[in-house]
Amino acid sequence: MSIFNPADEIQDLQYFGEFGGVNPSISDSSTYTFLSAKTMFDTFEGNTDGCYLYSRHSTPSNLHLGEALAAMEGTETANVAASGMGAITPTILQLCQAGDHIVSSRTIYGGTYAFLKNFAPRLNIQTSFVDITKLAIVEAAINENTKVLYCETVSNPLLEVADLEALAALAKKHNLKLVVDNTFSPLSISPAKLGADVIIHSLTKFINGSSDTVGGVTCGTQDFIDSLRNVNDGASMLLGPTMDSLRASSVLKNLRTLHIRIKQHSTNAMYLAKKFEADGLKTVYPGLTSHPSHEVYTKMMNPEYGYGGMLTIDVGSLDKANELMELMQNRNLGYLAVSLGFYKTLFSAPGTSTSSEIPLEEQKDMGLTDGLIRFSIGLDNNIERTYLAMKSCMEEIGILKTEASAL
Ligand SMILES: *Cc1c(COP(=O)(O)O)cnc(C)c1O
Repeated sequence: MSIFNPADEIQDLQYFGEFGGVNPSISDSSTYTFLSAKTMFDTFEGNTDGCYLYSRHSTPSNLHLGEALAAMEGTETANVAASGMGAITPTILQLCQAGDHIVSSRTIYGGTYAFLKNFAPRLNIQTSFVDITKLAIVEAAINENTKVLYCETVSNPLLEVADLEALAALAKKHNLKLVVDNTFSPLSISPAKLGADVIIHSLTKFINGSSDTVGGVTCGTQDFIDSLRNVNDGASMLLGPTMDSLRASSVLKNLRTLHIRIKQHSTNAMYLAKKFEADGLKTVYPGLTSHPSHEVYTKMMNPEYGYGGMLTIDVGSLDKANELMELMQNRNLGYLAVSLGFYKTLFSAPGTSTSSEIPLEEQKDMGLTDGLIRFSIGLDNNIERTYLAMKSCMEEIGILKTEASAL
């Protein structure tokens, strides 16, 4: 029996450069010549395979990267974008017209939340925000105008886990498109295999992994991706969030090591989550049996990649959170920075940073507390050494009792 393994799918792709290079050549052109005028016309109409027209539409480098990401997600094809938001907003605008309605998880990336809450209503696209883990509530929010069910596999920043199989069944029943942002769980979860229609990533995070660029991708059917790129009414083509070919080529090279990195992120995060929890800290990590969706995640996952690199702890107050993050940064245990998926551990207090678009009242409602610290655990070689150093920071500022004072 052959079981789908996303890293094997990537490994099986072989691209040579123009001169036999081991990496595909970078296409350093914005526009392309045609041998005949007829071919140019047909290309405009979208009727020619393998012909390039203009780089906002597609480039060889962008197609290589898109193909690799589609292979990873098990979709027919994909379209890369200049950022995660540059993938998300055209996807939503392609699927929804004025008058349409979206049901979305309420715990999503701050920028996506702001787009759905503040911007899409200007185009008369309304969104109901729901607790995505409560299927009855999700279904009750669907109305006759609903076109899209939107969620993140693992939500930002609370690490809620969406039951994608159940949500896909709901989407099917009501004839909706299930759109899943899989940024937090590449390789570990394969949403298309669980029934999602469209899968989005911010490549900025784990997939590129070196915190040196922003990028995004939409993975889906050939028909849907063609519609995004349509010269007459495609949202990606017309809004123009185009990735540069040079960048596509560098992201593709980083994608080649994603499986090794994800395994190390997951191993390190699991180690720290278990230790922090045993120390009595309120710890949220999908790999812990105490996580409310631990079983849902376990049922969905490709086991060898683990439960991912993201965890949160709650240290009680924003002051303590800030004190701890500053001290850990001074000790070179990580950086006080937003974003995730870097070789170095990154930490931030989501309420004041990445989720600041969400009104305070709603933050409280969804369990986003002041003392919450979100960690993107790095690739540390010796995670026990890191843990001991983090623990002594926590003891110094009184978040954990020292062995002596505990007596
Ligand atoms: C960062 C992020 C985005 C936005 O991606 P950009 O590359 O910053 O535009 C979207 N969704 C999630 C879950 C993210 O973490």
